[in-house]
Amino acid sequence: MKYNKSKIEPNKRFGQNFLIDKSVISKIILAMPKDILIVEIGPGLGDLTKELLDNAPRVIAYEVDERLCKYLNREFKESLDSNSLELRCGDVLEYWKDNGSLADEPYYLVANLPYYIATNIILKALEDSNCKGVLTMVQKEVALKFASQSQQREFCALSVIASSCGSANLLFDIAPEAFNPPPKVVSSILEIKKSSNFIRDGFDEFLRVAFSQPRKKLIKNLSKKFTKESLERVFNKLSIDTNLRPHQVVTRIYHLIYKELKEDIDGEKERDNQTGDFRKSRATSKKEAPKSI
Ligand code: SAH
Repeated sequence: MKYNKSKIEPNKRFGQNFLIDKSVISKIILAMPKDILIVEIGPGLGDLTKELLDNAPRVIAYEVDERLCKYLNREFKESLDSNSLELRCGDVLEYWKDNGSLADEPYYLVANLPYYIATNIILKALEDSNCKGVLTMVQKEVALKFASQSQQREFCALSVIASSCGSANLLFDIAPEAFNPPPKVVSSILEIKKSSNFIRDGFDEFLRVAFSQPRKKLIKNLSKKFTKESLERVFNKLSIDTNLRPHQVVTRIYHLIYKELKEDIDGEKERDNQTGDFRKSRATSKKEAPKSI
């Protein structure tokens, strides 16, 4: 087994759980698109990378662990020399920050993600206009958040974001024993096929407020940031039941509510500017919502 051959011990700090079950790799390969550049985040010991190279025109892999980079440089010398594989050593989040995109051309992200930053990576990939979709291994809990539909208990801000970009599906679960070392949680393969390049802008913050207390009424959550008059006007105009909880509202309606409320805030700011009143608008001066999505 490669794990023994490399003599590299998994490092918890980098979320290293190496996939050792070959049947899971085969399932991922079956599900991936074959005609587009593949970006892999965290190739680890390269077991998935090897199969990706056999099934994709080209692969770019990002790896933060220097020990693994050295090992991969030796193991994949041929593919690196022929340019079918490009290995970029360093923190993928830093690369995104500095370059805006993980590739200069359209790509699909296929990876067994480091779980400690999996949500963050998927959110970044959804924002990256060159990324056409993600097929990634993540904690089941995270997969459910992205792939849930309205009315389901797990439907949350991440579900709204994913369905605003395309369609998200949990393809299958993977037991902890498929990894070395086994993680404490069940994993899933999550696929998000992007159909639009949705710019989130202030929408994330709006969703954070909307879902700040998931079991409370949506209008109650939104009242932390928006005025009663605005909310009454918008819910009335869109004929939305004021008793609905955040998970009972569909993505399309979230977009309509956001558009209306944003117009209220923008209009108010404009009026304040015209009258020389530079105080924060009433709607935005209310208590801030918690930061995490
Ligand atoms: N794909 C391999 C390894 C998955 S473990 C397999 O399936 O066996 C997660 C991998 O992500 C590790 O190789 C880890 O070093 C890498 N990683 C962790 N944080 C990273 C970061 N910020 N940027 C790039 N790679 C990272």
